[in-house]
Amino acid sequence: MNEGTKQTGSRISSSEGNKKRVLFTGAVNHGGNNSTGELLKLLVQNVRDYAIFMIDPAGFIVEWTEGAEHVTGYQTHEVLGRHLSLFYTPEEIASGQPARELTEAAATGRIEREGWRIAKDGKRRLINEIATAIRDAQGELLGFAKISRDITERKLMEEALQQSEERLRIVMESVRDQAIITSDPKNIITGWNIGACNLFGYSAQEAIGQPGDIVFTEEDKASGQPAKEVATALKDGHAADERYHVRKDGSTFYVSGAMSPLYTSKGQLLGFVKMARDLTERKMMEERLNTANRRKDEFIAMLGHELRNPLSPVRNSLHIIKMTHPNDSELTPLVDMMLRQIDHMVVLVNDLLDVSRISQGKISLRKQRVDLTALIAESVENFLPVLEGTGRKLHLNLPEKSYFVFADESRIIQVINNILNNAVKYSPEDTGRIWVAAAQSGSMMIIRIRDNGIGIAEGDLTDIFESFVQIEATIDRSMGGLGLGLSVVKKLVELHQGTIHAESEGLGRGSEFIIRLPLAE
Ligand code: ADP
Repeated sequence: MNEGTKQTGSRISSSEGNKKRVLFTGAVNHGGNNSTGELLKLLVQNVRDYAIFMIDPAGFIVEWTEGAEHVTGYQTHEVLGRHLSLFYTPEEIASGQPARELTEAAATGRIEREGWRIAKDGKRRLINEIATAIRDAQGELLGFAKISRDITERKLMEEALQQSEERLRIVMESVRDQAIITSDPKNIITGWNIGACNLFGYSAQEAIGQPGDIVFTEEDKASGQPAKEVATALKDGHAADERYHVRKDGSTFYVSGAMSPLYTSKGQLLGFVKMARDLTERKMMEERLNTANRRKDEFIAMLGHELRNPLSPVRNSLHIIKMTHPNDSELTPLVDMMLRQIDHMVVLVNDLLDVSRISQGKISLRKQRVDLTALIAESVENFLPVLEGTGRKLHLNLPEKSYFVFADESRIIQVINNILNNAVKYSPEDTGRIWVAAAQSGSMMIIRIRDNGIGIAEGDLTDIFESFVQIEATIDRSMGGLGLGLSVVKKLVELHQGTIHAESEGLGRGSEFIIRLPLAE
């Protein structure tokens, strides 16, 4: 070898004849140490993530790199000259695996394997390994280069992913009464669980690959509902609605569905997931309830009219009897009692008619600018005769000036009258007190009607405004109502853009009804 030329690279011993052979051939340095061979060797030496090493044809280690140290934990001096079975598991050694691999690599030139190896710390690591046979120009086997990479972590991650996918699949498959449908970004169906099969009648095989709109009705398709659903899901992150969908056999059924877009952790759209549930039962129940409710409203309306019709002639006849028998001391109290009863019936029947008009949206208000201060004074004035002959007293506290509201006078009188009537009904005859007050508060007028009667339990304070609700303990059949008064009152106040609520410190401690009405401009 000439002085200026330095042979670089490792020499490996060949099993045949023990001749030293140059492995890093062609790496001849002309002067400096930056020859290609040096660089290559440096490169190989410095790769840390791959164990790169060489073995002779019999499997004894002849070259060891930093990467090999890093991956296996063995230092160069610990492994040079040792057989590669050092890294193999006892099972593989027993089955003759190391020798088999070398024979195969020698025969085919290159083999790639995944397998378990034992690192210096005794731990098993999964590696991916490529063994390449190295031959000289004459084709004589010099040994093998081995490059292996530790893929334990990757494998564990893959397994974890597989397990979570498996769990997801099991969840999807075990949900039987809920359809879970996945689709790609173009809303082509990619997943169809057993619930979807049950609901829509298509098998997974039939549904996958079809557009997501196969379950929509023709009308919904024509009006672009499927695309709207996708657009809403993308815009709001969620699109939920209830609508009729179509089964494979063409029958329609009512479905509650919700679609959400699926994004990767990097924000890339993966597709959509849609959950759907059969609501036919509920829808049918709702329809039955609506029908029953409509029938009830119709019945109440009819009842109201039928009951009201005879009342006027009866009342007129009673007045005639009264006028024609002014001095009949036996008849007069009877006629007066009948007139009172008839008036009470008129109130009840009017409530019935109002309730049915309100629930059918048929009530019409004749609103105008009204002086509310004067209107309350007038209502109370008209009401006072009811208190006559009882020990009940009424205190009125109205503002000095007029406050105007935009309202139907007769309806406001009806509201006040109704609450005053209740105050009388539910307060003691001898010591009953009723307070009526009104005051302005910002843009609202507030009317308060309070009594010292039986009071209302906290839990009933909102229920009493529902139709047909009467609080059991307070039912007074002698003044029997239908539990409609307050529901009519509430609707009437609301039709005036106002609110009403009740307050009470509890049973036996009186009640207060507070009405708010917006002041007219
Ligand atoms: P009713 O015809 O039964 O009076 P309402 O709708 O007017 O029907 O009232 C509903 C229920 O609210 C009454 O049955 C009663 O239990 C309760 N209630 C109404 N006003 C008062 C009040 N001033 N004090 C106590 N309870 C009341």
